[in-house]
Amino acid sequence: MSGYRRYWDEEIETMPRDQLREFQLTKMKEMVELTYKKSPYYKGLFDEAGVKPVHLAHLEDIKKFPTIDKKVLRSRQQAAPDFGDLLCAPEEEFVFLSASSGSTGVPTASPFTGPDFEDFQDCQARFFWSSGMRPTDRYCHALNFTLFVGGPDVIGAMKVGALTIWGGSIPSERLLSILKTWKATITWTTPSYAWFLGETARENGIDPAKEFSIKKIFVAGEPGGSIPETRDNIQKLWGADVYDYFGLSDIFGACAAMCEAKEGLHWAEDHIFTEVVDPDTGEEVPEGERGELILTSLKKVARPLIRFRTGDIVSYTTEPCDCGRTHLRLHGIHGRLDDMMIIKGVNVFPSDIETIVRNNSNLTGEYACVITEKKHMAVLTVEIEKAEGFQGDADGLAEQIQTECQKIIGIRPVVKLLEAKTLTRATHKAMRVRDERKKP
Ligand SMILES: [Zn+2]
Repeated sequence: MSGYRRYWDEEIETMPRDQLREFQLTKMKEMVELTYKKSPYYKGLFDEAGVKPVHLAHLEDIKKFPTIDKKVLRSRQQAAPDFGDLLCAPEEEFVFLSASSGSTGVPTASPFTGPDFEDFQDCQARFFWSSGMRPTDRYCHALNFTLFVGGPDVIGAMKVGALTIWGGSIPSERLLSILKTWKATITWTTPSYAWFLGETARENGIDPAKEFSIKKIFVAGEPGGSIPETRDNIQKLWGADVYDYFGLSDIFGACAAMCEAKEGLHWAEDHIFTEVVDPDTGEEVPEGERGELILTSLKKVARPLIRFRTGDIVSYTTEPCDCGRTHLRLHGIHGRLDDMMIIKGVNVFPSDIETIVRNNSNLTGEYACVITEKKHMAVLTVEIEKAEGFQGDADGLAEQIQTECQKIIGIRPVVKLLEAKTLTRATHKAMRVRDERKKP
Protein backbone atom coordinates (compact mmCIF):
# COMPACT_ATOMS: atom_id res chain seq x y z
CA MET A 1 0.00 0.00 0.00
CA SER A 2 2.98 2.29 -0.44
CA GLY A 3 2.40 5.66 -2.00
CA TYR A 4 -0.77 6.29 -0.07
CA ARG A 5 -0.94 8.40 3.06
CA ARG A 6 -1.19 6.52 6.32
CA TYR A 7 -4.22 8.23 7.83
CA TRP A 8 -7.39 9.66 6.39
CA ASP A 9 -7.32 12.61 8.78
CA GLU A 10 -4.01 12.55 10.62
CA GLU A 11 -4.62 15.57 12.83
CA ILE A 12 -7.90 14.26 14.25
CA GLU A 13 -7.02 10.57 14.32
CA THR A 14 -3.68 10.95 16.11
CA MET A 15 -4.58 13.91 18.33
CA PRO A 16 -3.06 13.56 21.83
CA ARG A 17 -5.78 12.49 24.25
CA ASP A 18 -5.73 15.60 26.43
CA GLN A 19 -6.17 17.72 23.33
CA LEU A 20 -8.92 15.41 22.09
CA ARG A 21 -10.76 15.84 25.38
CA GLU A 22 -10.50 19.61 25.07
CA PHE A 23 -11.96 19.32 21.59
CA GLN A 24 -14.80 17.17 22.94
CA LEU A 25 -15.56 19.61 25.72
CA THR A 26 -15.85 22.53 23.29
CA LYS A 27 -18.19 20.55 21.06
CA MET A 28 -20.19 19.20 23.98
CA LYS A 29 -20.80 22.68 25.36
CA GLU A 30 -22.03 23.86 21.96
CA MET A 31 -24.27 20.83 21.65
CA VAL A 32 -25.84 21.11 25.10
CA GLU A 33 -26.49 24.81 24.53
CA LEU A 34 -28.01 24.10 21.15
CA THR A 35 -30.34 21.39 22.47
CA TYR A 36 -31.45 23.58 25.37
CA LYS A 37 -32.21 26.44 23.02
CA LYS A 38 -33.78 24.58 20.10
CA SER A 39 -35.42 21.42 21.37
CA PRO A 40 -38.52 21.76 23.57
CA TYR A 41 -38.02 18.21 24.74
CA TYR A 42 -34.42 18.69 25.91
CA LYS A 43 -35.26 22.00 27.53
CA GLY A 44 -38.06 20.41 29.54
CA LEU A 45 -35.90 17.43 30.43
CA PHE A 46 -32.97 19.55 31.64
CA ASP A 47 -35.23 21.97 33.55
CA GLU A 48 -36.93 19.08 35.30
CA ALA A 49 -33.53 17.68 36.30
CA GLY A 50 -32.40 21.13 37.47
CA VAL A 51 -29.47 21.34 35.03
CA LYS A 52 -28.54 24.05 32.58
CA PRO A 53 -25.82 24.37 29.92
CA VAL A 54 -23.75 26.49 32.37
CA HIS A 55 -23.37 23.46 34.61
CA LEU A 56 -21.12 21.88 31.99
CA ALA A 57 -17.59 23.02 32.86
CA HIS A 58 -15.77 19.67 32.44
CA LEU A 59 -16.54 16.56 30.39
CA GLU A 60 -17.44 14.71 33.59
CA ASP A 61 -20.23 17.22 34.23
CA ILE A 62 -22.27 15.54 31.52
CA LYS A 63 -23.15 12.97 34.20
CA LYS A 64 -25.36 15.61 35.81
CA PHE A 65 -27.62 15.48 32.77
CA PRO A 66 -30.41 12.90 32.47
CA THR A 67 -30.17 9.94 30.08
CA ILE A 68 -32.57 9.13 27.28
CA ASP A 69 -33.12 5.87 25.42
CA LYS A 70 -34.79 4.28 22.43
CA LYS A 71 -38.18 4.42 24.14
CA VAL A 72 -37.86 8.20 24.43
CA LEU A 73 -37.07 8.53 20.72
CA ARG A 74 -40.06 6.41 19.83
CA SER A 75 -42.50 8.11 22.17
CA ARG A 76 -41.37 11.64 21.21
CA GLN A 77 -41.88 10.80 17.55
CA GLN A 78 -45.44 9.79 18.38
CA ALA A 79 -46.03 12.81 20.62
CA ALA A 80 -44.59 15.34 18.15
CA PRO A 81 -44.92 13.97 14.60
CA ASP A 82 -43.33 13.50 12.14
CA PHE A 83 -39.82 13.39 13.57
CA GLY A 84 -40.18 14.13 17.30
CA ASP A 85 -39.15 17.21 19.30
CA LEU A 86 -35.46 16.46 19.83
CA LEU A 87 -34.68 18.24 16.56
CA CYS A 88 -32.28 21.18 16.53
CA ALA A 89 -32.36 22.22 12.87
CA PRO A 90 -35.27 23.25 10.63
CA GLU A 91 -36.63 20.62 8.29
CA GLU A 92 -35.60 22.57 5.19
CA GLU A 93 -32.00 21.76 6.14
CA PHE A 94 -32.66 17.99 6.26
CA VAL A 95 -31.36 15.99 3.33
CA PHE A 96 -31.44 12.40 4.49
CA LEU A 97 -33.50 10.20 6.75
CA SER A 98 -32.58 6.79 8.09
CA ALA A 99 -34.89 4.81 10.30
CA SER A 100 -34.66 1.80 12.53
CA SER A 101 -37.58 -0.57 12.65
CA GLY A 102 -36.51 -2.18 15.88
CA SER A 103 -38.39 -5.18 17.13
CA THR A 104 -41.47 -3.27 18.21
CA GLY A 105 -42.98 -1.91 15.02
CA VAL A 106 -43.00 1.80 14.12
CA PRO A 107 -39.70 2.92 12.56
CA THR A 108 -37.93 5.68 14.44
CA ALA A 109 -36.59 8.39 12.14
CA SER A 110 -33.05 9.73 12.34
CA PRO A 111 -32.72 12.83 10.11
CA PHE A 112 -29.46 14.37 8.85
CA THR A 113 -28.77 17.91 7.66
CA GLY A 114 -26.43 18.36 4.69
CA PRO A 115 -23.38 18.97 6.92
CA ASP A 116 -24.45 16.07 9.20
CA PHE A 117 -24.46 13.77 6.18
CA GLU A 118 -21.08 15.09 4.97
CA ASP A 119 -19.60 14.47 8.44
CA PHE A 120 -21.14 11.01 8.46
CA GLN A 121 -19.53 10.04 5.14
CA ASP A 122 -16.17 11.55 6.00
CA CYS A 123 -16.20 9.49 9.18
CA GLN A 124 -17.06 6.31 7.23
CA ALA A 125 -14.24 7.02 4.76
CA ARG A 126 -11.87 7.40 7.73
CA PHE A 127 -12.88 3.98 9.07
CA PHE A 128 -12.56 2.31 5.66
CA TRP A 129 -9.12 3.84 5.21
CA SER A 130 -8.08 2.67 8.71
CA SER A 131 -9.11 -0.89 7.78
CA GLY A 132 -6.86 -0.70 4.73
CA MET A 133 -9.31 0.20 1.95
CA ARG A 134 -7.53 2.07 -0.86
CA PRO A 135 -8.47 3.44 -4.30
CA THR A 136 -7.22 0.17 -5.84
CA ASP A 137 -10.00 -1.77 -4.08
CA ARG A 138 -13.32 -2.91 -5.46
CA TYR A 139 -15.85 -2.66 -2.68
CA CYS A 140 -19.17 -4.49 -2.85
CA HIS A 141 -21.56 -2.97 -0.34
CA ALA A 142 -23.87 -5.81 0.65
CA LEU A 143 -25.94 -4.01 3.29
CA ASN A 144 -29.61 -3.09 3.05
CA PHE A 145 -30.34 0.26 1.39
CA THR A 146 -33.93 0.65 2.56
CA LEU A 147 -34.01 3.19 5.41
CA PHE A 148 -30.98 1.48 6.95
CA VAL A 149 -28.27 3.85 8.21
CA GLY A 150 -25.58 1.44 6.96
CA GLY A 151 -26.85 1.79 3.37
CA PRO A 152 -25.23 5.14 2.49
CA ASP A 153 -21.89 4.05 4.00
CA VAL A 154 -21.02 3.04 0.45
CA ILE A 155 -20.53 6.76 -0.25
CA GLY A 156 -17.69 6.72 2.30
CA ALA A 157 -15.99 4.08 0.15
CA MET A 158 -16.44 6.31 -2.92
CA LYS A 159 -14.74 9.12 -0.99
CA VAL A 160 -11.81 6.77 -0.39
CA GLY A 161 -11.70 6.30 -4.15
CA ALA A 162 -12.51 2.60 -4.23
CA LEU A 163 -14.63 1.27 -7.06
CA THR A 164 -17.97 0.78 -5.33
CA ILE A 165 -20.43 -1.91 -6.32
CA TRP A 166 -23.85 -1.19 -4.85
CA GLY A 167 -24.94 -4.72 -4.05
CA GLY A 168 -27.51 -4.12 -1.31
CA SER A 169 -29.30 -7.01 0.31
CA ILE A 170 -29.97 -9.47 -2.49
CA PRO A 171 -30.29 -13.25 -2.72
CA SER A 172 -27.05 -15.04 -1.81
CA GLU A 173 -26.52 -16.69 -5.21
CA ARG A 174 -26.75 -13.30 -6.91
CA LEU A 175 -24.39 -11.67 -4.44
CA LEU A 176 -21.87 -14.49 -4.86
CA SER A 177 -22.10 -14.08 -8.61
CA ILE A 178 -21.44 -10.31 -8.34
CA LEU A 179 -18.49 -10.81 -6.01
CA LYS A 180 -17.00 -13.37 -8.39
CA THR A 181 -17.70 -11.67 -11.72
CA TRP A 182 -16.22 -8.30 -10.79
CA LYS A 183 -13.58 -9.69 -8.43
CA ALA A 184 -14.62 -7.58 -5.45
CA THR A 185 -11.76 -7.27 -2.95
CA ILE A 186 -13.83 -6.05 0.03
CA THR A 187 -17.39 -6.58 1.18
CA TRP A 188 -19.47 -5.85 4.28
CA THR A 189 -22.14 -8.06 5.88
CA THR A 190 -23.12 -9.38 9.29
CA PRO A 191 -20.78 -12.09 10.67
CA SER A 192 -23.46 -14.77 10.50
CA TYR A 193 -24.20 -13.85 6.91
CA ALA A 194 -20.51 -13.90 5.94
CA TRP A 195 -20.44 -17.43 7.32
CA PHE A 196 -23.68 -18.42 5.60
CA LEU A 197 -22.54 -16.94 2.30
CA GLY A 198 -19.26 -18.84 2.42
CA GLU A 199 -21.07 -22.08 3.24
CA THR A 200 -23.50 -21.46 0.37
CA ALA A 201 -20.59 -21.03 -2.03
CA ARG A 202 -19.06 -24.26 -0.79
CA GLU A 203 -22.31 -26.13 -1.24
CA ASN A 204 -22.26 -25.00 -4.84
CA GLY A 205 -18.82 -26.50 -5.22
CA ILE A 206 -16.96 -23.17 -5.03
CA ASP A 207 -14.15 -22.64 -2.54
CA PRO A 208 -14.52 -19.01 -1.39
CA ALA A 209 -10.88 -18.83 -0.32
CA LYS A 210 -9.66 -19.86 -3.80
CA GLU A 211 -12.20 -18.70 -6.32
CA PHE A 212 -13.01 -15.21 -5.06
CA SER A 213 -10.80 -12.13 -4.78
CA ILE A 214 -12.14 -11.03 -1.37
CA LYS A 215 -9.26 -9.85 0.84
CA LYS A 216 -11.20 -8.09 3.56
CA ILE A 217 -14.66 -8.57 5.02
CA PHE A 218 -16.16 -5.88 7.24
CA VAL A 219 -18.76 -7.20 9.65
CA ALA A 220 -21.23 -5.49 11.99
CA GLY A 221 -24.56 -5.96 13.70
CA GLU A 222 -23.60 -8.89 15.94
CA PRO A 223 -20.80 -9.51 18.46
CA GLY A 224 -19.12 -12.18 16.23
CA GLY A 225 -16.62 -9.85 14.59
CA SER A 226 -14.83 -9.37 17.89
CA ILE A 227 -15.04 -13.01 18.98
CA PRO A 228 -11.66 -14.41 17.87
CA GLU A 229 -13.04 -17.92 17.24
CA THR A 230 -15.82 -16.62 14.97
CA ARG A 231 -13.51 -14.22 13.19
CA ASP A 232 -10.92 -16.95 12.59
CA ASN A 233 -13.55 -19.27 11.16
CA ILE A 234 -14.83 -16.66 8.69
CA GLN A 235 -11.24 -15.71 7.81
CA LYS A 236 -10.36 -19.33 7.02
CA LEU A 237 -13.56 -19.88 5.06
CA TRP A 238 -12.92 -16.84 2.84
CA GLY A 239 -9.14 -16.61 3.02
CA ALA A 240 -9.73 -12.96 4.00
CA ASP A 241 -9.14 -10.60 6.91
CA VAL A 242 -12.23 -9.85 8.98
CA TYR A 243 -12.66 -6.36 10.49
CA ASP A 244 -15.30 -5.69 13.10
CA TYR A 245 -17.44 -2.54 12.76
CA PHE A 246 -19.99 -1.10 15.15
CA GLY A 247 -22.83 1.16 14.09
CA LEU A 248 -25.94 2.53 15.64
CA SER A 249 -29.14 3.20 13.71
CA ASP A 250 -29.68 6.43 15.62
CA ILE A 251 -26.24 7.87 14.82
CA PHE A 252 -23.97 6.54 12.04
CA GLY A 253 -23.69 3.34 10.01
CA ALA A 254 -20.31 2.91 11.68
CA CYS A 255 -19.37 4.69 14.91
CA ALA A 256 -16.29 2.51 15.54
CA ALA A 257 -14.14 0.22 13.40
CA MET A 258 -11.07 -2.00 13.53
CA CYS A 259 -7.83 -0.58 12.21
CA GLU A 260 -5.25 -2.88 10.62
CA ALA A 261 -3.77 -3.68 14.05
CA LYS A 262 -7.11 -5.42 14.74
CA GLU A 263 -6.89 -4.95 18.50
CA GLY A 264 -10.30 -3.47 19.15
CA LEU A 265 -12.48 -0.92 17.36
CA HIS A 266 -11.42 2.74 17.35
CA TRP A 267 -14.29 5.00 18.32
CA ALA A 268 -14.82 8.30 16.43
CA GLU A 269 -14.37 10.38 19.57
CA ASP A 270 -14.47 13.68 17.72
CA HIS A 271 -18.05 12.89 16.61
CA ILE A 272 -19.42 11.04 19.62
CA PHE A 273 -18.61 11.17 23.32
CA THR A 274 -18.87 7.83 25.13
CA GLU A 275 -19.53 6.72 28.69
CA VAL A 276 -19.56 3.11 29.87
CA VAL A 277 -21.68 2.58 32.97
CA ASP A 278 -23.12 -0.11 35.17
CA PRO A 279 -26.64 -0.49 33.70
CA ASP A 280 -28.19 -0.91 37.15
CA THR A 281 -26.50 1.88 39.11
CA GLY A 282 -25.50 4.25 36.30
CA GLU A 283 -22.01 4.48 37.84
CA GLU A 284 -19.08 4.62 35.44
CA VAL A 285 -17.21 1.30 35.19
CA PRO A 286 -13.38 1.22 35.01
CA GLU A 287 -11.57 0.73 31.69
CA GLY A 288 -11.62 -2.92 30.64
CA GLU A 289 -14.82 -3.80 32.48
CA ARG A 290 -18.17 -4.46 30.88
CA GLY A 291 -20.88 -1.84 31.03
CA GLU A 292 -23.61 -0.19 29.00
CA LEU A 293 -22.53 2.26 26.33
CA ILE A 294 -23.96 5.77 26.62
CA LEU A 295 -23.44 8.22 23.76
CA THR A 296 -23.54 11.97 23.31
CA SER A 297 -23.36 13.26 19.76
CA LEU A 298 -20.93 16.14 19.40
CA LYS A 299 -21.60 17.32 15.85
CA LYS A 300 -24.82 15.94 14.40
CA VAL A 301 -27.40 18.73 14.77
CA ALA A 302 -30.57 17.46 13.03
CA ARG A 303 -31.41 15.35 16.04
CA PRO A 304 -28.64 15.42 18.65
CA LEU A 305 -28.50 12.71 21.24
CA ILE A 306 -27.47 13.73 24.74
CA ARG A 307 -26.59 10.77 26.98
CA PHE A 308 -28.35 8.16 24.88
CA ARG A 309 -28.44 4.71 26.50
CA THR A 310 -27.66 2.26 23.71
CA GLY A 311 -28.45 -0.99 25.51
CA ASP A 312 -25.14 -2.34 24.14
CA ILE A 313 -22.71 -3.92 26.56
CA VAL A 314 -19.10 -3.04 25.80
CA SER A 315 -15.68 -2.65 27.36
CA TYR A 316 -12.90 -0.33 26.18
CA THR A 317 -9.31 0.80 26.49
CA THR A 318 -7.56 4.15 26.00
CA GLU A 319 -4.11 2.47 25.78
CA PRO A 320 -2.10 3.57 22.72
CA CYS A 321 -2.66 1.44 19.60
CA ASP A 322 0.14 0.20 17.31
CA CYS A 323 -1.44 2.12 14.42
CA GLY A 324 -0.78 5.46 16.11
CA ARG A 325 -4.44 6.44 16.37
CA THR A 326 -5.35 7.84 19.77
CA HIS A 327 -9.12 7.37 19.85
CA LEU A 328 -10.32 4.83 22.41
CA ARG A 329 -10.87 1.26 21.34
CA LEU A 330 -13.85 -0.94 22.14
CA HIS A 331 -12.85 -4.51 22.93
CA GLY A 332 -15.93 -5.42 20.98
CA ILE A 333 -19.62 -5.48 21.61
CA HIS A 334 -20.32 -8.22 24.10
CA GLY A 335 -24.03 -8.14 23.44
CA ARG A 336 -27.29 -6.28 23.83
CA LEU A 337 -28.72 -5.68 27.25
CA ASP A 338 -31.94 -7.17 25.80
CA ASP A 339 -30.08 -10.41 24.99
CA MET A 340 -28.48 -10.69 28.40
CA MET A 341 -29.61 -13.84 30.16
CA ILE A 342 -29.51 -13.99 33.92
CA ILE A 343 -28.97 -17.62 34.84
CA LYS A 344 -28.53 -18.45 38.52
CA GLY A 345 -27.49 -14.86 39.15
CA VAL A 346 -24.82 -14.91 36.44
CA ASN A 347 -25.05 -12.47 33.49
CA VAL A 348 -24.62 -14.54 30.34
CA PHE A 349 -24.44 -13.20 26.78
CA PRO A 350 -24.89 -15.32 23.67
CA SER A 351 -21.41 -14.15 22.64
CA ASP A 352 -19.97 -16.04 25.65
CA ILE A 353 -21.54 -19.25 24.35
CA GLU A 354 -20.35 -18.45 20.82
CA THR A 355 -16.72 -18.31 21.96
CA ILE A 356 -16.99 -21.87 23.21
CA VAL A 357 -19.08 -23.34 20.41
CA ARG A 358 -17.00 -21.88 17.58
CA ASN A 359 -13.81 -23.20 19.07
CA ASN A 360 -14.81 -26.85 18.73
CA SER A 361 -14.21 -28.60 15.40
CA ASN A 362 -16.71 -31.35 16.27
CA LEU A 363 -19.50 -28.75 16.03
CA THR A 364 -20.83 -26.74 13.08
CA GLY A 365 -20.55 -23.50 15.08
CA GLU A 366 -24.28 -22.72 14.89
CA TYR A 367 -26.07 -22.41 18.20
CA ALA A 368 -29.19 -21.17 19.97
CA CYS A 369 -29.85 -20.36 23.62
CA VAL A 370 -33.22 -21.39 25.03
CA ILE A 371 -34.40 -20.21 28.43
CA THR A 372 -37.04 -22.19 30.28
CA GLU A 373 -38.13 -22.26 33.88
CA LYS A 374 -37.96 -24.98 36.50
CA LYS A 375 -39.11 -24.39 40.07
CA HIS A 376 -39.00 -20.60 39.45
CA MET A 377 -35.37 -20.80 38.34
CA ALA A 378 -34.19 -19.91 34.84
CA VAL A 379 -32.69 -22.86 33.02
CA LEU A 380 -30.41 -22.36 30.01
CA THR A 381 -30.34 -24.93 27.24
CA VAL A 382 -27.70 -24.51 24.59
CA GLU A 383 -28.64 -26.07 21.27
CA ILE A 384 -25.65 -26.97 19.13
CA GLU A 385 -25.04 -29.04 16.02
CA LYS A 386 -22.66 -31.94 15.48
CA ALA A 387 -20.29 -31.30 12.61
CA GLU A 388 -21.19 -33.15 9.46
CA GLY A 389 -19.78 -36.66 9.56
CA PHE A 390 -19.14 -36.58 13.31
CA GLN A 391 -19.03 -40.21 14.50
CA GLY A 392 -17.58 -39.77 17.97
CA ASP A 393 -19.07 -39.95 21.44
CA ALA A 394 -22.05 -37.54 21.46
CA ASP A 395 -22.54 -37.66 25.24
CA GLY A 396 -18.87 -36.93 25.74
CA LEU A 397 -19.10 -33.97 23.39
CA ALA A 398 -22.10 -32.50 25.21
CA GLU A 399 -20.33 -33.03 28.51
CA GLN A 400 -17.23 -31.27 27.20
CA ILE A 401 -19.29 -28.18 26.24
CA GLN A 402 -20.95 -28.15 29.67
CA THR A 403 -17.59 -28.28 31.38
CA GLU A 404 -16.21 -25.44 29.26
CA CYS A 405 -19.27 -23.30 30.03
CA GLN A 406 -18.77 -23.98 33.72
CA LYS A 407 -15.13 -22.99 33.46
CA ILE A 408 -15.55 -19.87 31.31
CA ILE A 409 -19.00 -18.49 32.20
CA GLY A 410 -19.55 -20.03 35.61
CA ILE A 411 -22.75 -21.94 34.85
CA ARG A 412 -23.45 -25.44 33.59
CA PRO A 413 -26.19 -25.30 30.94
CA VAL A 414 -28.22 -28.17 29.54
CA VAL A 415 -26.66 -29.05 26.19
CA LYS A 416 -28.83 -30.35 23.37
CA LEU A 417 -26.85 -31.87 20.53
CA LEU A 418 -28.57 -31.69 17.14
CA GLU A 419 -27.74 -32.99 13.68
CA ALA A 420 -25.88 -30.62 11.33
CA LYS A 421 -28.09 -28.02 9.60
CA THR A 422 -31.00 -28.35 12.04
CA LEU A 423 -30.83 -24.77 13.28
CA THR A 424 -32.04 -21.90 11.10
CA ARG A 425 -29.23 -19.99 9.36
CA ALA A 426 -29.36 -16.21 9.48
CA THR A 427 -29.23 -14.09 6.37
CA HIS A 428 -29.23 -10.91 8.43
CA LYS A 429 -28.86 -10.72 12.19
CA ALA A 430 -29.02 -14.09 13.90
CA MET A 431 -31.59 -14.53 16.68
CA ARG A 432 -29.67 -16.41 19.33
CA VAL A 433 -32.00 -16.35 22.33
CA ARG A 434 -35.43 -17.95 22.70
CA ASP A 435 -37.12 -17.17 25.97
CA GLU A 436 -39.78 -19.81 26.50
CA ARG A 437 -40.70 -18.83 30.04
CA LYS A 438 -44.30 -17.88 30.67
CA LYS A 439 -44.64 -14.11 30.75
CA PRO A 440 -46.38 -12.79 33.86
ZN1 LIG B 1 -5.37 1.19 15.84
